[in-house]
Amino acid sequence: MRTILVVGDGMADRPLKELGGRTPLEAAETTNLDAVAKGGVCGIMDILTPGLPPGSDVANLTLLGYDPFESYRGRGALEATGAGLDVGPGDVAFRGNFAYLDDEGVVVDRRAGRVDGTVFREYLSDISLSAYPGVEVTVMPTLGHRLAVVLKGESLSWRISDIDPHKTGVRVLRSMSIDGTAEAKRTAAIANELYSVLREKMIRNPLNRERAARGLPPANTVLLRGAGAIPAVKPLTEEYGVRGACVAVTPTVRGSCLSAGFDLYDAPGATGGVDTDTIGKAEIVEGVLPRYDVVFLHVKGADNASHDGDPRLKISVIEKIDAMVGHLLDNIAIEETYIAVTADHTTSTRTRDHTGDPVPVAILGPEVIPDIAEKYSEQDCARGGLGRIRGKELMPILLNLQDKVELYGS
Ligand code: ZN
Ligand code: ZN
Repeated sequence: MRTILVVGDGMADRPLKELGGRTPLEAAETTNLDAVAKGGVCGIMDILTPGLPPGSDVANLTLLGYDPFESYRGRGALEATGAGLDVGPGDVAFRGNFAYLDDEGVVVDRRAGRVDGTVFREYLSDISLSAYPGVEVTVMPTLGHRLAVVLKGESLSWRISDIDPHKTGVRVLRSMSIDGTAEAKRTAAIANELYSVLREKMIRNPLNRERAARGLPPANTVLLRGAGAIPAVKPLTEEYGVRGACVAVTPTVRGSCLSAGFDLYDAPGATGGVDTDTIGKAEIVEGVLPRYDVVFLHVKGADNASHDGDPRLKISVIEKIDAMVGHLLDNIAIEETYIAVTADHTTSTRTRDHTGDPVPVAILGPEVIPDIAEKYSEQDCARGGLGRIRGKELMPILLNLQDKVELYGS
């Protein structure tokens, strides 16, 4: 028996005026998602607690069965490990953007024209901080304009604030201690020093002169945010003795899965954007499924479309997720596989941000007890037999169906 957990990032939504009061899930053609809901057991799920909007990092850890309020240690380390960097106990990692600052030091473009930061990889491979010789720095461009940074050294803390101001038209911030400890003060000072070093280096980068000559915004700085340490979790593979695989592009999702002890797989044509090839992902899952108990299959695009406020684009990504689930249903042995579909949070296309609304969840498989829900939607799943559950409860529900959860009591 095995489980595929399909996570459509930010797929759930609220009713939208542009869609005649329907949500994108209701407006999309989703024959296969509906088949999972109709044949399976459904419910709605508060990822954290009712009304609390989750970040994707916290949300995915929670879907893996962890208590978000105990295990979460910031996003940076999830992103860095997901990008293939080594982050050990005591290390602190950041995520960041290549960005464009004007001559006054004001942020003009937080993504420097969505520059492909991998062109700077070599150039940033050898960074050292003369004021902190004991601190080892690794800088790694990841997807698009994003990058990950890892600090290794004595007495570091992830409890520091962002340098990234998260908006344009303002100056960058100075990192500060959040909890007032000596470690946090020291790490904030290191982050500020690192920012200055990276800023100097990026200003001098010859590729930026080329970009300026082509009329493109130079990537003349690096905005750091999301300081984090590796999450305080026991791998699911140890906790339940299950073998897990993760098919995802988004570094923070990959990092969460690594913390759970899952093996990571790439899919050709998977981009982490709205143009991703979901069928390629389904094929990878079908190939690795015989070797695993749990496969975490994540598709990012619907969240991007919601942040861009584009309901039509969101519908098109949902329909690609539907086609992916259709491919799975056609090619896996459903008599020995559970397939669960959910979202890591609601992303409102109107507010263009995550909200604290519950998400629909549906589980199809050999021993689930079907209910009256017929469609995979926010409204229909609310009528289902799972009722209203919490995000951290989904993984035990799935593992229990596979007889992997030990008796409590005697
Ligand atoms: Zn998300
Ligand atoms: Zn999002």
